[in-house]
Amino acid sequence: MAVQNYFLPQSVDEAVELLAAHGDSLLVMAGGTLTMPLINDGISAPEKVMGLRQAGLNYTGMANGSVILGATATLSQVIEHGHIPMLRQAASSAASWTIRNMGTVGGNLFAPPPAGDLAVALLALDAELNLHSARGSRSVPLADFYKGFMSTVMAKDELLLEIEVPAPLGRTAYVKYGRKHSHTPSVVTVAAHLVLDDGLVTKARIALGAVGPHPLRAQAAESYLQGKTLSESHIASAASIASEECEPFTDAIASEWYRRRMVKVYVARMLQQIAAEEASS
Ligand SMILES: Cc1cc2nc3c(=O)[nH]c(=O)nc-3n(C[C@H](O)[C@H](O)[C@H](O)COP(=O)(O)OP(=O)(O)OC[C@H]3O[C@@H](n4cnc5c(N)ncnc54)[C@H](O)[C@@H]3O)c2cc1C
Repeated sequence: MAVQNYFLPQSVDEAVELLAAHGDSLLVMAGGTLTMPLINDGISAPEKVMGLRQAGLNYTGMANGSVILGATATLSQVIEHGHIPMLRQAASSAASWTIRNMGTVGGNLFAPPPAGDLAVALLALDAELNLHSARGSRSVPLADFYKGFMSTVMAKDELLLEIEVPAPLGRTAYVKYGRKHSHTPSVVTVAAHLVLDDGLVTKARIALGAVGPHPLRAQAAESYLQGKTLSESHIASAASIASEECEPFTDAIASEWYRRRMVKVYVARMLQQIAAEEASS
């Protein structure tokens, strides 16, 4: 089966009308870095494809103290105009320049693990998603977006329009640990965002990538840190808790066992980095 229809809507309204009219049979494509290889290899054979490149969603900006990322802003645009250092770092760590010039912020949220490096940073930053359909718009925290592997709360007639990222109040730390320094899939990705008051943690976000069916928050570790100092023993305990609560898998990159071990190592390192910055400020 070859693609029979290719739609290139010129606005969001046109795009959601097409989705409402064609429903399930319409494949949404943004940068195409994930979808096109599947079509080329015959793994996916959609009858109808809708490209989002001219729908007016490739912008980045600021509004009310938050960073606004249009769903089809590319990873390269985030590196250039990302405003938040952790977002720039995360986008820089994903794939190669060629993929980053095509791949979009929105598409990254749908990338199966071990991909989704930007999504991990967005989770730690409490990003909110604007989902839109012909029925209207709704806002969903990224933390509530994923239901399972390649499964989200998005309805079939909805499009991801925009991502709103509140400017982080405290300190952030991000690492993508892979087998190579660049152009490499993740063994584990860790994004931490902590707010401290008088040495005590008042807000903790620890997001993990490549160790679950989708990017996830280490919520038990976050709760453990609440109200505590960033002492070596608290950091070690939080890292252990995170490594126990994640759900790693084995693939060609790393085993489940190794990924779990690396969660412990890299969560501890991110927390130590934040503790050191806090101590020297
Ligand atoms: C060689 C290679 C290396 C890679 N390395 C990395 C890496 O190191 N780190 C990493 O994180 N990722 C990596 N990726 C994965 C991927 O390319 C990127 O994550 C990219 O951001 C995906 O965006 P896209 O616009 O190309 O997605 P597309 O292929 O266009 O779409 C992907 C999925 O998202 C859905 N979708 C996209 N936008 C929307 C929207 N606005 N509304 C609703 N649904 C939407 C599509 O329907 C599709 O199911 C790599 C990919 C390749 C090919």
